[in-house]
Amino acid sequence: MKIIYILLAYFYMATSLMAQPQQRIAIAIHGGAGTILKANMTPELEKQYTEKLDEAISAGYAVLQKGGTSLEAVAAAIRIMEDSPLFNAGKGAVFTNEGKNELDASVMDGKTLAAGAIAGVTTIKNPIMAAIAVMRKSPHVMMTGRGAETFAEQQGLEMVPNSYFRDEHRYQQWLKVKARDSIGEGRIRPELLPDEDAFIKDRKFGTVGCVALDQYGNLAAGTSTGGMTNKRYGRVGDAPIIGAGTYANNETCAVSATGHGEYFIRAVVAHDISALMAYKKMPLKKAADEVVMKKLVKMGGEGGIIAIDNKGNIVMPFNSEGMYRACIYTNGQKKIAIYKQ
Ligand code: ASP
Repeated sequence: MKIIYILLAYFYMATSLMAQPQQRIAIAIHGGAGTILKANMTPELEKQYTEKLDEAISAGYAVLQKGGTSLEAVAAAIRIMEDSPLFNAGKGAVFTNEGKNELDASVMDGKTLAAGAIAGVTTIKNPIMAAIAVMRKSPHVMMTGRGAETFAEQQGLEMVPNSYFRDEHRYQQWLKVKARDSIGEGRIRPELLPDEDAFIKDRKFGTVGCVALDQYGNLAAGTSTGGMTNKRYGRVGDAPIIGAGTYANNETCAVSATGHGEYFIRAVVAHDISALMAYKKMPLKKAADEVVMKKLVKMGGEGGIIAIDNKGNIVMPFNSEGMYRACIYTNGQKKIAIYKQ
């Protein structure tokens, strides 16, 4: 009889240990980097950004708390920011040279190294969901334009007319940039004229991204954007390029980037951070600083990243004036910030 009790107790302990979460959870998001100065921000707008960041990070965290996966948390947080006109992703995306909104997004699963991306789409309401569908439901990693849209439609994703993405404020900004560009045609970073606001200088506010660690020890990363204002001829930035704007690997970290995509592609930013951790055994902070604060700065590439390692450490470095960002650490502490601190 005694032996049976001992066996039962042992069995109970073993199963309850198995049911315990393997790890603590953590999550970080960004809503774009650039010349975001307190001087250019009204208290009302600052409040709107802070509240939306809070809503997105809390939604992602709630998924993790309920035992959801890091990928599900990434999707939940990014969808909220895509649906908000405050960010340059989904609704409120910037305008192309032709006056349209063309969206890019990508996602990566750190456990399997599976990845999905879409680029240059104009009618998919939530591009991040299309990127996930490419990863899960197709044998491919990236689909572009009309093909990506046909695929998304077949997968039952919500489709909208391109006018859904239009935000009047973005449209007015685009008109100014377009006028400016016809003066400085061909220059990548024309100097700021006295009557121009910071948005026009940067032309890249508001890409969104999320990285997360779930209780099963799995990392995931996702990024979604409208790209750069007044972009031309099917231009694709770093956001949908796996290794540049997005990367996740359980062995190292998950990264989502925002900034001047042409530089982030050439610096292979997201994978570079992971590679420094894998091959040089650098801790996350050192690896991220090496790429964002040294390598990119040397090249002239402005922007930042959010990243999380497989222990749940979070870093959010940027070399621009500001970056909309938020995170919830493994101890449950929440941080929401916009400017340099
Ligand atoms: N990285 C994006 C792009 O180049 C823009 C951004 O992050 O704001 O398309």
